[in-house]
Amino acid sequence: MNIIDTPSPNFDARSLPVSIIVLHYTGMQTAQAAIDRLRDPEAKVSAHYLVAEDGQILRMVAEDQRAWHAGKSRWRGIEDVNSASIGIEIVNPGHEFGYRPFMEEQIDAVVRLVADITERHRITRGNVVGHSDIAPTRKQDPGELFPWSRLAKVRLALPRPTKGLMDPMWTDAGFLVALERFGYDVTDKLAAVVAFQRRFRPELIDGVIDGECRSILLALLLPKPTGDDG
Ligand SMILES: [Zn+2]
Repeated sequence: MNIIDTPSPNFDARSLPVSIIVLHYTGMQTAQAAIDRLRDPEAKVSAHYLVAEDGQILRMVAEDQRAWHAGKSRWRGIEDVNSASIGIEIVNPGHEFGYRPFMEEQIDAVVRLVADITERHRITRGNVVGHSDIAPTRKQDPGELFPWSRLAKVRLALPRPTKGLMDPMWTDAGFLVALERFGYDVTDKLAAVVAFQRRFRPELIDGVIDGECRSILLALLLPKPTGDDG
C-alpha cells in the first residue's frame, strides 16, 4: 500500500490494546483544511490515517500511539475509545458543508486499509464502527452515505441483516436493553436509535423504534453457527 507519512503532533500513549477501528468523515470544506487541522497542535485532534478522495492514504499518527479522534464516546463498555482504537478520517465535506457520496477509489483504499489493520490487530468485524456509533449524541459521521456494504461484502464490517427477519415485538424498553447489549451507549435513547438507523437502516432515520428496527437488531444479536453468517 502506498502510504504517505504526514505526521501530526497530536497523540499520546495508549493504555489499552487495539480492538476497534473508528471511521470518520473529515467534515470540512476541503481536504487540505482537514489535514491542516489534524496537524495543528492548537486543535488537539488527529487520526492515524486520512484517506483522500482519490484514494491516497496519509499516515498521521503511528498505530502504537493514541490519536485523538473519538472524543467523549463509548462502545461495548470501553470509554477511552482513543486508547483502544485506530481512527481513519475519510475526506468528505459532511452534513455541514455538502454531504456527498464517497468516491470509488476512496472506498477501495478504505477497504484495503481496514483489511490490513484488522488482520494485523485481529479486530473483529463488529468492532469496525462509525464515529456516530460510539458517540450517538454528538456525531453523524461517516453518515448514511458511507457504503458499509462494501466492507461487509469482504467481511470487514457487519452486514445489514436481510434474511429470516423476525420482529421480536419488544417494547421500546426491551429494544433499548438489546441495543445496549449490542454495544451502543443508550443514555440518550433517541440519539442511540438514530445512530443505529444511520448504520443499519439508512433509508429511514427517524428515531422511531419500528418492527424493522427490532427485527434487524434481533438478527444482529442472534448467535450464528460458524460459517453460516455470510
Ligand atoms: Zn468523527
